[in-house]
Amino acid sequence: MSLLLIAPNRDMNVWKESILEVDPNIDIEIWPKVKHKERVNFAVSWRHPKNVLNGYSNLKAVTSLGAGVNHLLEDEAIPEHVKLARVVTSSLKEQLAEYVLTAVLNYRNHTSRYVDQKREGYWSPHDAISKKDCVIGIMGLGEMGIEAARMLSNNGYSVTGWSKTEKQIDGIETFIYNQLNEFLDETNILVCMLPLTSETQGILNLDVFKKLKKPAYLINVGRGAHLIEEDLIYGIDTGALAGACLDVFEEEPLPSHHLFWNRPKIMITPHIGAVTDPKEAVAQIVENYKRTLSGMDLINQVDKKKGY
Ligand code: NAP
Repeated sequence: MSLLLIAPNRDMNVWKESILEVDPNIDIEIWPKVKHKERVNFAVSWRHPKNVLNGYSNLKAVTSLGAGVNHLLEDEAIPEHVKLARVVTSSLKEQLAEYVLTAVLNYRNHTSRYVDQKREGYWSPHDAISKKDCVIGIMGLGEMGIEAARMLSNNGYSVTGWSKTEKQIDGIETFIYNQLNEFLDETNILVCMLPLTSETQGILNLDVFKKLKKPAYLINVGRGAHLIEEDLIYGIDTGALAGACLDVFEEEPLPSHHLFWNRPKIMITPHIGAVTDPKEAVAQIVENYKRTLSGMDLINQVDKKKGY
């Protein structure tokens, strides 16, 4: 029985040490130097290359290192019977909520314009965008979305939310699936905190941008493929949107020739909205490893039918 750590470009020795602090008896292998593939029951992955999990005949479960699971769902080499899970921690939720709050404040207070002006040695004040023109609509009221909705509401913003099934959250007006137009009608700042599924892919498109209350702004911390990139450029150029803050992209790292780099109204961060802290996440990972050995369901197990 062993646990496989697999995450290109990350130092997985830190994760190994953290897991061993919780349970020193776990046998751990780190990809790509795997000695006994047949002994691996459980894998912990962050964006593993597709198909490298081929040939692990006793693999029973794979957990994502973070809250996103697309890299697992998109890998056809992971057999249907293998359970999937993800890591959700309170600091992950808090970090992402703080990212969204910061993006809202940067937009309202023209932070990136002042950064550009400082570089040019140019003094020019701009009126801050008033809070009443900043009704925030959160798409996706899951683990991340609810935390962000609460933080924004506690900071005095008017917040609404949209989800597949009905939600009741104090102080937040909620809409369901078939009320997208009503939700967009009331929203100035659209925040995408949806999982990437066949229903949500490309949901951030020109049609949606046009329906937003003006002034309108976009924050995407979901996944890059939620956004139709050319629609964002067109939406900004034609005034449907005042700008956007993006943490996730169709292709990451964002290629150096990409159109977004030269657009002053698009704020870019390199997928740092929330980063999993090994010390906080290992308890869940070890628990799920043990549950896998006992054939139990997992904590934060992914519903493969729903796709999140
Ligand atoms: P989650 O707990 O699975 O919640 C997903 C929410 O989206 C749920 O409220 C769900 O509705 C709703 N939803 C799903 N499909 C929908 C549809 N077709 N129409 C309307 N609502 C729909 O997900 P999460 O953990 O909050 O994560 C949200 C996103 O944040 C993911 O894309 C994740 O990858 C991303 N994320 C990004 C970062 C970063 O660093 N940028 C960090 C962490 C997470 P129901 O509740 O009704 O099912």
